[in-house]
Amino acid sequence: RFITLEGGEGGGKSTQLRRLARSLRERGLEVIETREPGGAPGAEAIRPLLTQGDTARWDVLSETLLLAAARRNHLVETIRPALDAGQWVVSDRFIDSTRAYQGAARGLDTAIISTLEAWVLDGLMPDLTIILDIDPAIGLDRAGRRIETSAPASPGAGEDRFERMGLAFHQSLRAAFLDIAAAEPGRCAVVDAGDTADVVEARIRDLVIARLL
Ligand code: C5P
Repeated sequence: RFITLEGGEGGGKSTQLRRLARSLRERGLEVIETREPGGAPGAEAIRPLLTQGDTARWDVLSETLLLAAARRNHLVETIRPALDAGQWVVSDRFIDSTRAYQGAARGLDTAIISTLEAWVLDGLMPDLTIILDIDPAIGLDRAGRRIETSAPASPGAGEDRFERMGLAFHQSLRAAFLDIAAAEPGRCAVVDAGDTADVVEARIRDLVIARLL
């Protein structure tokens, strides 16, 4: 089974990923924890090109092509082999991050995103996608980031360039993730990530039990 965790910054994806993997292992399942951009050596080498350095380096199409290459490598090297071996795979981000960040928030044509998705995934889709939903003002604060509340969605310099975009950017991201969930209710579920980690963990566990176990 293949589960993805999605959402904006500060929703607790990485914490919840660890907790979900632990609870699946307690049930005797073999679980691979992975992430995007990254999740395989080649893709991890691409990651810093996207997340660090000069923010003006990539236009949105270049960024999406790098993400697509990283995703393809992640799928071929890590996800497919694990699923073929009967393991569970839980990934911190996957295709919906591209739909939301590069598509909805940065404005890349959805036809391009769909085409790349079809090429890269080659029929594989997550069995369950959990969207951790949080008010960006709270999420960014939790993530300990400074944001420019008045600025339009424009990148600033620095290491975590995506996180330094303005609040409006993060609000459009949130709306995009909610739209994805509404469009694909069979695959996706929204979890309110504003509660404590324990409460969110229990909600995720219940969802996985109801849908996949
Ligand atoms: O999930 P994590 O915060 O580790 O992601 C790394 C960075 O890459 C984040 O700042 C996220 O906003 C960004 N990202 C992106 N587009 C994607 C996936 C991740 O802008 N498709």
